[in-house]
Amino acid sequence: MSALPIITLAGLFHETNTFAEGLSRLSDFTLMQGDELLAERGNVSPVGGFFEVADAHACKLRPVIALRAFPGPMVEDGVVEYFLRHLLEDLHACRPDALFMVLHGAMVCESEDDVEGYVLSKIREELGSDFPIFGVYDLHANVSQKMTQSASGLIAYRENPHRDAFAAAKDAALLMFDSLDSNRPCHMTMRSVPVLLTPIQTGTDDLPMSALEAEARVLENESPGIAALNINAGFAYADTADTSLSFSAVVWADCKAEDAFDALEAVLGRVGLPESDPPLTIQNALSEISDACPVITLLVEDADNIGGGASGRSTTLLRELIAADCHSAAVAICDLELVESLESISIGQGTSVVFSGLGRRSNEEPLCVEAVLIARSSGQFDLEDIHSHLASVSGRTFEMGPSVVLQIGGIEVLVTSRKTPPMDLGMWHSQGIDIESKRIVGIKAAVSHRQAFSGIATKELHIDTPGPCSNLLSQFEYQKLRRPIHPLDPDAYTVRTRKIESI
Ligand SMILES: [Zn+2]
Repeated sequence: MSALPIITLAGLFHETNTFAEGLSRLSDFTLMQGDELLAERGNVSPVGGFFEVADAHACKLRPVIALRAFPGPMVEDGVVEYFLRHLLEDLHACRPDALFMVLHGAMVCESEDDVEGYVLSKIREELGSDFPIFGVYDLHANVSQKMTQSASGLIAYRENPHRDAFAAAKDAALLMFDSLDSNRPCHMTMRSVPVLLTPIQTGTDDLPMSALEAEARVLENESPGIAALNINAGFAYADTADTSLSFSAVVWADCKAEDAFDALEAVLGRVGLPESDPPLTIQNALSEISDACPVITLLVEDADNIGGGASGRSTTLLRELIAADCHSAAVAICDLELVESLESISIGQGTSVVFSGLGRRSNEEPLCVEAVLIARSSGQFDLEDIHSHLASVSGRTFEMGPSVVLQIGGIEVLVTSRKTPPMDLGMWHSQGIDIESKRIVGIKAAVSHRQAFSGIATKELHIDTPGPCSNLLSQFEYQKLRRPIHPLDPDAYTVRTRKIESI
């Protein structure tokens, strides 16, 4: 009887917004090494999904390293060097039978625009062309040729909001064991499409993603040579040559996926590319909300989308709500300095507060205003939805850091010291904010908040505020993006879809 196969587990997860200010440093990442990764067993994270499958297989697991952080600015080179050094040393020493990786797919560091491609190619160099490298990655990946040439089989999430990170990781782990057990190698192939989608256009409940995902599942079923077909929506705020919508496939042996890619492009030609609606001015959005409105209106600040790497510090909406004397409104803003400045203030006490805002670069001056401190906490809360995207990255609790609630006129303002994507209503309830009773809620997201608010009657208005995740892509000064590309260059894609349809 042969010895049990050794499967190494590693994770590197960051969605990098190269337009956001600052650097993402090692201290911004959650680091887990060796057996610390076993704590993910039972979680709905992608690592938890891997364990669920791997634990049911006869194999020896070797968890090595996982580094993950919330989306943010450019990653310091040292983060990638640290990860790669530890992983390569362990792979070299242990010589496992396969590697499973939990990746994002849109990570950029100072010296590498394609971090995942770089890391996978280094591992491939170290372990040779036949070594099985499998894994799972985020639907917002900017997938590169280097990634697909270096990996044996990577499966992307199928849903946005990402309710299925756990399920996608399970599928990827099952694919790995299928390949190992049957001794059938697989490899990857891809096609990039010259289209940039804004985050709001990447929701899988809407076109074009809903149609592409549906067609991909049909093609997977109908094509015995294709083990998995991924729709990669891309992440528009990373200025790299690989930034775009793309399709990638895991194929068995010598099989190809060109016909499947053509079919997906034909779907895109049929449903068309989504138009970008310009966001509303805050004044116009407020004029659409009446006191008689029976639902909560979500004022969505795409530009300060925390899930897209923004800081969550913008005060433009709050400033306008105060100016309009709004009542029954709630917003959340990240501002560590403000939380610290209130340490000696008692609950119920009024005081002047200063929100730093985004700073002068975004034409947002600090906001000075009178407020009453109504609550203070450590900022830790239990997730109410343990199947949310937030649960997939943070487990069952989330740390907002020391937090306060301020009453400013008729507005309740949750001020956190760590940026907190609005993906779980626990962030409000845990601080005593009855979010269901509000008329207006400010949302620093694009799509990822929808699952949390799906059980509440809401209307959504997208508003124009400053930040590095604006839906107006023409505002960004791309240097490295491959051109022409839709929507920045006229007719960048229509010509190609016509050609595909005529085949
Ligand atoms: Zn994503």
